[in-house]
Amino acid sequence: MTKSSNLGYPRIGEKREWKKALEQYWKGNISEQELQTELEKLRLYDLKKQKDLGIDLIPVGDFSLYDHVLDTAVMFGLIPERFQQQDENSLHTYFDIARGNKNAVASEMTKWFNTNYHYIVPEVSSDSEPKLVENRLLPYFLEAKEKLDITGKPVLLGPVSLLKLSKGFEDKDFERLVEKLVPLYIQVLQQLEKAGAEWVQIDEPILATTLTKDEINVFKNVYQSIDRKLSSLNVLLQTYFESIDYYEEVVSLPVAGIGLDFVHDQGANLEAIKNFGFPAEKTLAAGVINGRNIWKDDLSASLTLLETLRSFVNEDRLIVQPSCSLLHVPVTVETESELDPQLKNALAFADQKLEEIKLLTEGLNKGRKTVEEKLTFQAECREQLWQSEIRNNTDVQKEVEFWKGVEPTREQHFSERQSIHQNFFNLPLLPTTTIGSLPQTTEIRQGRLKWRRGDWTDTDYQSFIEANMREWIARQEEIGLDVLIHGEFERNDMVEFFGEKLEGFAFTKYAWVQSYGSRCVKPPIIYGDVALTEPMTVKEISYAQSLTKKPVKGMLTGPITILNWSFVREDISEFDVTKQIALALQKEIRALEENHIHMIQVDEPALREGLPLKPKKQQQYLDEAVYAFKLATSSVKNETQIHTHMCYSEFGEIMHTLDALDADVISIEAARSHGELIADFEKQSYEKGIGLGVYDIHSPRVPEAEEMEKYILRALNVLDPRQFWVNPDCGLKTRGVSETTEALTNMVKAAHNIRLEIEQKLQSSKG
Ligand code: GLN
Ligand code: ZN
Repeated sequence: MTKSSNLGYPRIGEKREWKKALEQYWKGNISEQELQTELEKLRLYDLKKQKDLGIDLIPVGDFSLYDHVLDTAVMFGLIPERFQQQDENSLHTYFDIARGNKNAVASEMTKWFNTNYHYIVPEVSSDSEPKLVENRLLPYFLEAKEKLDITGKPVLLGPVSLLKLSKGFEDKDFERLVEKLVPLYIQVLQQLEKAGAEWVQIDEPILATTLTKDEINVFKNVYQSIDRKLSSLNVLLQTYFESIDYYEEVVSLPVAGIGLDFVHDQGANLEAIKNFGFPAEKTLAAGVINGRNIWKDDLSASLTLLETLRSFVNEDRLIVQPSCSLLHVPVTVETESELDPQLKNALAFADQKLEEIKLLTEGLNKGRKTVEEKLTFQAECREQLWQSEIRNNTDVQKEVEFWKGVEPTREQHFSERQSIHQNFFNLPLLPTTTIGSLPQTTEIRQGRLKWRRGDWTDTDYQSFIEANMREWIARQEEIGLDVLIHGEFERNDMVEFFGEKLEGFAFTKYAWVQSYGSRCVKPPIIYGDVALTEPMTVKEISYAQSLTKKPVKGMLTGPITILNWSFVREDISEFDVTKQIALALQKEIRALEENHIHMIQVDEPALREGLPLKPKKQQQYLDEAVYAFKLATSSVKNETQIHTHMCYSEFGEIMHTLDALDADVISIEAARSHGELIADFEKQSYEKGIGLGVYDIHSPRVPEAEEMEKYILRALNVLDPRQFWVNPDCGLKTRGVSETTEALTNMVKAAHNIRLEIEQKLQSSKG
């Protein structure tokens, strides 16, 4: 008999009960005991749901109070030095590492592979001495057993991935540290074995990235050592997100089962099985339901895939499961009462995906005929949306078709545009500006709420937004900034705002997914052809511009960012969706130009994070990103200056791409990475306008002018003052009004001082 399995269930609850409980606890409104009781209730509810859905192998220990990487690090005593005086096994210490406290800053967090989930980066030094602080899986296993009669499958992040995701030690110590961890993992596993666990899932997602032969050898040593010490417990080595590069080596590792992703990477894992077979004594856990999308599966195709796989492994050694943990999808479609039925019928979130897995397993065990009716129904649901009017807009399709093979390029080369812009805007050296958003105070958020609830009319809300713009245009002038912004007061979120105005997007009520800690995001769903029906930003930007003689930047979110932060339809290519978004933005930009806005910023903060894990796919992604950006921005008039912004600093490796965007000015985060970024410009030359953030907006600290001056001077060692812009690292929406005013005042002062120095130097060299 083939079994069904799950790799991980969303922690957050159907209505974000998890988030609410955690935040109540952090605020001090509930005790630790109350928190634990609340979370246990939620956990048992979710386990029972999976049991009732008929899943055979139900994960336990996938639950977390914050993040599973942090859980694993803390379990093995890998606690940052600055928290080591605290009780290592307390909830306080755990949350302090994640969130910081009065005396110590939090650990860094970073993206979990190519997802929008962020994990806490473990800090491990070369002389770290890991130890088993507590086997956190055991209580979860026992809880499921005792309270629900479930023999759970404990889930644990493997030692190699854990260390590869950590920072703070030297490469040469990697193997030594792995060796120290292995006996501790063995202890954990032996305890689970004793408690009656049959399967344990050890996640080694790092296997889906590019590794060296040496690193693969580390895997051999680790899993051999583990294998020697276990008798009845079956280890399932789980990989996900992409195919694995070292197929033959990985399937030969001494473990009972191997979990592979058969959804991503165009069938590469399937190809490998066809070429090299699969070891007869092992179990194949086949990830056939996409754990990353929200669409109903083409079950008939998946069943065929499983039937193919069954010809390589015995049916008792096949497991049907999602491609990865369901952490990355919302909980259930059931609660969405307001979606268009055609759309709703085509959606599958975590619970629906588990139903699909159950169905496929049944289809394998009892024959395709027994599930045929359900497969047909599902195919109809999909088909209905595919063909539906709500999805297809022939005008948009024709326009995309028109651009096929046409290279969007600006009429003039940057060097020619540069002098036109100089004459047109007449900006001083080192022009000062900001990234777009200004403090979103409680008052602003409450105003928006009143309007959404209907307490305020559109006109009330509009005049409220205008009042805020008036206040801040005046303040920016007073501070002395050269290029102003309208402040984005009318926007809640930089993707949602545009999604709500464009055709082709749908918004759910409860389809949240965890982003980091208790923070969840609710990505819009791009279900249909994207079209602009009326200008989205012209009203506010024009109003702001009418208040001042200084240029006000138009402010848009770029096509790649809108795509990467949404759930995207899959019946057409992502590239086609990006082009549709780009064409909508192209029209918006034209409308801005017609209303005399000639400095337009198109933000692409998510460009870098969408970079595929596999190097062989990266260039295509970057090329498509460049194409989409240029499609949106290059049909402009010569005098129009295009800006872009990105919030990260790994600039060096994609400098070529950023240059290819052909934006006249780019602003990027730099203050946090200090000198690293500047060094990139010593290696590669960059001629366009560039603003390296001169202060970190992630902290309320107000830097002095001198500090920023030093920063500017350092950058001017490698960049020409005629190309350098002075701006903060990112938007200011999370900051307070007074700290923002002070910091910007200091920033303008810093720019003035350096400007003066440069002008004096120029004078004296002339004289
Ligand atoms: N213009 C946006 C802002 O200032 C950019 C946000 C971002 O980079 N994530 O908020
Ligand atoms: Zn940013």
